[in-house]
Amino acid sequence: MTDEFNTEIYYDDDADESHLETTTVAVLGYGSQGHAHAQNLDDSGVDVIVGLREDSSSRDAAEADGLEVATPVEAASRAEVVSVLVPDTVQPSVYADIESELDAGDTLQFAHGFNIHYNQIQPPEDVDVTMIAPKSPGHLVRRNYESGEGTPGLLAVYQDATGDAKERALAYAKGIGCTRAGVVETTFREETETDLFGEQAVLCGGIAELIKAGYDTLVDAGYSPEMAYFECLNEMKLIVDLMYEGGLGAMWDSVSDTAEYGGLSRGDAVIDDHARENMEEVLRQVQDGEFATEWVAENQANRPTYTQLRQAEKNHEIEDVGERLRALFAWAEEEETEDESVRM
Ligand code: NAD
Ligand code: MG
Ligand code: MG
Ligand code: MG
Ligand code: MG
Repeated sequence: MTDEFNTEIYYDDDADESHLETTTVAVLGYGSQGHAHAQNLDDSGVDVIVGLREDSSSRDAAEADGLEVATPVEAASRAEVVSVLVPDTVQPSVYADIESELDAGDTLQFAHGFNIHYNQIQPPEDVDVTMIAPKSPGHLVRRNYESGEGTPGLLAVYQDATGDAKERALAYAKGIGCTRAGVVETTFREETETDLFGEQAVLCGGIAELIKAGYDTLVDAGYSPEMAYFECLNEMKLIVDLMYEGGLGAMWDSVSDTAEYGGLSRGDAVIDDHARENMEEVLRQVQDGEFATEWVAENQANRPTYTQLRQAEKNHEIEDVGERLRALFAWAEEEETEDESVRM
């Protein structure tokens, strides 16, 4: 159960699927995670109902996959475990519809902590509130299950009304294949705050700004946009692949000594103390709820700022240059066309 890290990691032997034996699981939503959880649970012998609106375009897909489909309200009323897998921004309104279907001892199950952590959903005290969050997009959760490999995931218990919340969550994790690969225990707070910080400061926001800043610096200095694109964006994948396989060390080992010395001696001139202070400020806004409040209001107002920011990003010259250059690499993309979008 424990490995060399100071964190609990759970595997198949730690999970008892009999906790779901007499249970019906309602999977609300049939998108990236929903289709994978529903089919994996069904294949694991769990009784599953998919909850979708009458006019949902996902109904056909779920039925074609051999699953029973009902409205979210009907699915929740028949289930003891309600797995909330509609988009995070939609969850509060779907929850409002199904809340009265939650009975004492039921489980409200999530794959991300935003709405619970920031109180956008406030469940009754007599239900378990748990999270099993696969660390992969849904199509891999499904593919890994079918291939027998499984997908690593996170487990958290926010509310343990029955005294069995963790055991039930582990059974759910087993049902979708996560305990085959390992499930790491965390909290709703830690999962939510690290997820938001990571995507804002490093993975999505940080890296996009780093790429654009590098591109602009080269182009403003008179270098060709094509060269700037290759150096600052295209090669990013090669570098990240090395880090993914073997950490920073594998990357430093694989690049030339010149690149290694240049990177080691100049990188912290770019990501300097000021950039680190800015990261701390981004983290503060995540921790004190300022970001969450802003994002909830933004959605209520029909996303005016979001729409503007998206358009500005699309208008950056690097996107035009990239479109032309990527056409030259069309052959390389074929094997990845199956890939769906990755939600962070
Ligand atoms: P998604 O956008 O892929 O799918 C959502 C599904 O919800 C849609 O396919 C549809 O069936 C339904 N839906 C959409 N709009 C709706 C509406 N207005 N009312 C009712 N139903 C609606 O969502 P997702 O990416 O699978 O995310 C689900 C949850 O999983 C989120 O909490 C997310 O944070 C979490 N998560 C996602 C990933 C990922 O890689 N996609 C990874 C880990 C956790
Ligand atoms: Mg019920
Ligand atoms: Mg180079
Ligand atoms: Mg080297
Ligand atoms: Mg995220």
